[in-house]
Amino acid sequence: MKDQYGRAVDYLRLSVTDLCNYRCRYCMPEEGVCKLSHRDVLSVEECVEAVRAAARCGVTKVRLTGGEPLVRRGILDICRGIAAIPEIQELCLTTNGSRLPELAGPLRLAGVDRLNISLDTLRPERFAAMTRTGTLRQALEGIAAAEEAGFTGLKVNAVLIGGFNDDEIGDFLDLTVEKPWEVRFIELMPMGPCAEWDRSCFLSSQAVLERFPQLEPVEARGVALRYRLPGARGTVGFISPLSHTFCAKCRRIRITADGRLKSCLHSREEIPLKGLRGRELEEAIRRGILQKPEEHHLTQRPSDTPRSMNQIGG
Ligand code: SAM
Ligand code: SF4
Repeated sequence: MKDQYGRAVDYLRLSVTDLCNYRCRYCMPEEGVCKLSHRDVLSVEECVEAVRAAARCGVTKVRLTGGEPLVRRGILDICRGIAAIPEIQELCLTTNGSRLPELAGPLRLAGVDRLNISLDTLRPERFAAMTRTGTLRQALEGIAAAEEAGFTGLKVNAVLIGGFNDDEIGDFLDLTVEKPWEVRFIELMPMGPCAEWDRSCFLSSQAVLERFPQLEPVEARGVALRYRLPGARGTVGFISPLSHTFCAKCRRIRITADGRLKSCLHSREEIPLKGLRGRELEEAIRRGILQKPEEHHLTQRPSDTPRSMNQIGG
C-alpha cells in the first residue's frame, strides 16, 4: 500500500533481537544494553504473524536484523515461517557474520535468499578495537561460509568513519576486482553512542566518490547509488542517508524486537504491535504506513529517535 506521499511501502525490516555478541563503538555501549525481558520480545510465532499481516498490507521483501539476528534463539524457525508466506518474494538477513560458519547452510535451507555481511575494516587490530569483542578472522570465515553455502549476490557493508577506516576505501574497492560482491559504503548516522562524535567522523559518500574518479556508474538499486571499477567482477554501492536524503525513495517500515512499528528509522513515533493479532495487527500496520513521515532531519540535527541502531534494527 502507498503512504500519504505516494511511496509504495513493500519492504519490512524486522529486528529479531536487540542483543549482540559484538559491541561496535558506534552502535552499542560497552556494557551492552538492558536485556529486554522475554515477555517483551516478539516470540517466533509473533514475528511470523507480524510479517503475515505486513504482507497483507503490501510487503513483499523482508530483512531480518537486530542486534545480531544470528544470536536469536529460534532464528531458523523465524526464517522458515516467513519464507512460507506466499506474498514474501525475498527474505534477506543482515549479520556481522560471526555465526555464519555454523548457520550459513541451515539459513539457506530455511529459505533465506540473500545476506548482507558487515565488515567495517580489513585490518585485524582495528576490527578488534571497533567491535570490542570480535575478530576479523571470524568475519572473513563467515563470508567464506556464506559463499560455500551457495549464497550469491553477497553485500559487504562498511560504515565509513573518518579517522577510522577512510584510509581503507581503496582496499575495499580492490576487493571487488576479484570478488563478485557488492561492497557498500554506508554513511555513519548520528544516533546512539555516536550521536555526539566529532563532525570529522561523518564522511559524505560524495567526498569518497570524488577521490575515486575511476568508478563507473552502473544502474542504481533501491536507495544505493552503484558503481564499478573497470573490469571488476563486483560492484560498489553508496548508501547516503546523511548527505543525500533518500527519503523520497524510502519504501521501508521497521518492527523492533519489542514489537514496535517504526515507519521511519529516525522518528520518535512508534506503534506497539505486541499482543495484537489478525485484523487489529493489520490495521495497526496500515496506520503506521499512513503515518510515515515525509523525511528525516539528520542534516540539521541528530536522529530524533532515542534508540540506538541495535535497538531498532539497522
Ligand atoms: N548485527 C548485524 C550487523 O552488524 O550487520 C545487524 C544489525 S546492525 C545494527 C545493521 C547495520 O547497521 C550494520 O551494517 C551496522 O554497521 C549499521 N549501523 C549501526 N549503527 C549505525 C550508524 N550509527 N550509522 C550507520 N550505520 C550503522
Ligand atoms: Fe552488533 Fe551489528 Fe551493532 Fe555491531 S553493528 S554492535 S554487530 S548490532
